[in-house]
Formats: sequence, structure tokens, C-alpha cells
Amino acid sequence: MAYRKIETYDEATTEALKANYRAALETLGEDPDREGLLKTPERVAKAMQFITQGYHMNAADILNSAKFHESYSEMVLVKNIELYSLCEHHMLPFFGKAHIAYIPNGVITGLSKLAHVVECYSRRLQVQERLTHQILDVIQETLNPLGVGVVIEARHMCMMMRGVQKQNSATTTSAFSGVFMKNETRSEFLKLIASDLA
Ligand SMILES: [Zn+2]
Repeated sequence: MAYRKIETYDEATTEALKANYRAALETLGEDPDREGLLKTPERVAKAMQFITQGYHMNAADILNSAKFHESYSEMVLVKNIELYSLCEHHMLPFFGKAHIAYIPNGVITGLSKLAHVVECYSRRLQVQERLTHQILDVIQETLNPLGVGVVIEARHMCMMMRGVQKQNSATTTSAFSGVFMKNETRSEFLKLIASDLA
């Protein structure tokens, strides 16, 4: 198998996290022994392992597991890939959509693999800028296409819930390689996804 998803939880990790989250609840002034919170440390311990399972996934393996030789040389575009990640500064969620395009150079991959690549890098502690570049780099290095374009638009809970509370501001990041550095190709890509960036 090229990659694995956490379906069962590592017992030692769960126990260690449980103790930490119980202590955190107490520190925050809560009573971890009240009914509603009894199982919370365990639930959080498991949720956090699920949310960070990308550390156990390898994006290059995911792409290499479905590489096909094809002479198709037009733009391949996958829009609106759902994305959930954790900002590494506050450990609060950021979420949104990724749009990925590449122009093959003799090799294509399964379309669903691009969504798996997004999962691999988003299910970790992240910053949106690095996430965008990691997705671009692994596609460029593994498929060696003529170029790659990645655009991510996301809302950050650390901005929405704290301090400034700019609830409607979305952050957009982008990265381009190869032929996507040319105005013409990049504009075509941006035009194709534009309806979703309004
Ligand atoms: Zn943050």
C-alpha cells in the first residue's frame, strides 16, 4: 500500500495525549471529571491524531502509485479540492479549497491522487504558504510536467475567532512552475478557476 490512513489509534500516543488534554482542561479552569468532559481528553487525543495523520503519508508515493504514460499535453485542472488544516501558530483550523493544474510531459496521474496529495500535506501543522509550495513541488518532482499551478483560498479560525475577528477575509496563496510562469498559461488557469475566487 502506498500510504495509510489512521483508522485505529496508537494506544501509547492516545494515553499520553489524554493525560495532557486532561491537564489542559484543569489549567483552563474546567472540571475534567464532570459528565460532559469525562471522555473529552480521549476524543481530542483521537481527533488530533486523525487531523495530523498526514505525517504518516508520503505524497510522492501517492503520485507514483498511479503514474500513466499519456501523450495528452493540455492543461489538467482539478478545482475545489476541499482542504482542512491546522495553523501551526495557534493550532486552530484553517479550511478552504485548493485548485491544482499541470500540463503533462508524457506522464499523468489519477485525478483523485491530487486530492490525496492535498490531504497528505494539509493534515499536519501548517502555514498556508508552505502548504501551497509543498503541493507544487511534489507534483513537479514526481510527474515532471511542463508546469504546475496551485491556488489555495482558505479562512483561518485564528483570525476569525481571536483579536481582529475579520470574519469574512479569506487568504489566497498561489505557486507556479514551468510554463505557468508565462502570463498566458497562468491567466488561462486563473480564468478557469476565477468563478470560485469571487
Ligand atoms: Zn494562526
